[in-house]
Amino acid sequence: GQTIGILGGGQLGRMLAMAAARLGLQTHVYEPGANPPAAQVANRTTTAPYEDLDSLTAFAQSVDVVTYEFENVPADALDAIEAVVPIRPNRQALAVSQDRLTEKTFLTEIGLDCAPFAPVHDDATLAQAIALTGLPAILKTRRLGYDGKGQARIRETHDTTRALAEMQGAEAILEGMVAFDREISVIAARGADDTIACFEPGENVHKDGILHTTTVPADIDEALRERAFGVAGTILTALDYVGVMGVELFVVGDRLLVNEIAPRVHNSGHWTEAGAVIDQFEQHIRAVAGWPLVDPVRHSDVVMTNLIGDDVDDVAAIAAETGARLHLYGKAEARAGRKMGHVTRVLRPASDRV
Ligand code: ATP
Ligand code: MG
Ligand code: MG
Repeated sequence: GQTIGILGGGQLGRMLAMAAARLGLQTHVYEPGANPPAAQVANRTTTAPYEDLDSLTAFAQSVDVVTYEFENVPADALDAIEAVVPIRPNRQALAVSQDRLTEKTFLTEIGLDCAPFAPVHDDATLAQAIALTGLPAILKTRRLGYDGKGQARIRETHDTTRALAEMQGAEAILEGMVAFDREISVIAARGADDTIACFEPGENVHKDGILHTTTVPADIDEALRERAFGVAGTILTALDYVGVMGVELFVVGDRLLVNEIAPRVHNSGHWTEAGAVIDQFEQHIRAVAGWPLVDPVRHSDVVMTNLIGDDVDDVAAIAAETGARLHLYGKAEARAGRKMGHVTRVLRPASDRV
């Protein structure tokens, strides 16, 4: 059978390995850290840094295709792998999403709306950027940010020095603050045969910069829902994408602004394992392995809640709840801000739409 290589051994890599196993596929995980969550599930794990190109070459030689659970894989590591086997989703998807400036420039070029943005290197370029975006605005590092890390909000001009200092010298982007009505995301897939399949949009609420809940369906009308699917489809097609992508959107009246895209399975898609006929992890593995996609029909209204840090102290009560699908990642230590698991509560059979 086929062997799927997975870069990154966190919870997303683990859930991808579980889905692959269910389809009778083998997995080989590559992860620098010791005892990653995915190692408990994968057939094989290589523990080595992404700078170790010999280990990466040997890893690539042991698999048929390579996918990844995070978008910040260094370019040299990708070159070493691509010399041996294909990478799905492709390099362009990674290049675009590794850098917020490249990402927003790409999205704008393909005709999609984003918050106003401008690059920032220093005090002078920050002042120019504020002239473009207005205030309030958010300064973000262009690379490596997640869970709201590497971001500083600017409300008044006297906040600029502090905000720039928070970037710690990293290249940054300023974005106008969007007064959104709600945040939604579309988990979309594109198969090797070009078919596109989108899960029902979910509505996301963040707490302390980290995703807290995803509620499905999102409270949007039919026209906006269709437009959200259209936005996701435009991005997937423009990138000649194969795999699952998370598309984060701001809803402002009847407008949709793209916040960011993730070229991988996404935390706001975890609900799919309890609310739809296929989950995002299997859909991704199907795409990457060249299998047909499944029409991702939603059968239930659900709410997914992340279990962060000591939220897992409630695990016994959740485990005893009716209609609550609990998923724990097998992490030994519950540090503050660490994603330990999630629970998806089935609320009712799918309302109005599928
Ligand atoms: P993730 O963990 O989703 O990768 P991240 O660290 O990449 O998060 P963003 O998604 O850019 O960060 O921002 C985190 C949250 O901050 C958003 O979901 C949104 O709630 C808020 N936010 C970010 N940018 C803006 C903006 N331009 N206007 C309004 N709110 C914003
Ligand atoms: Mg992000
Ligand atoms: Mg985000």
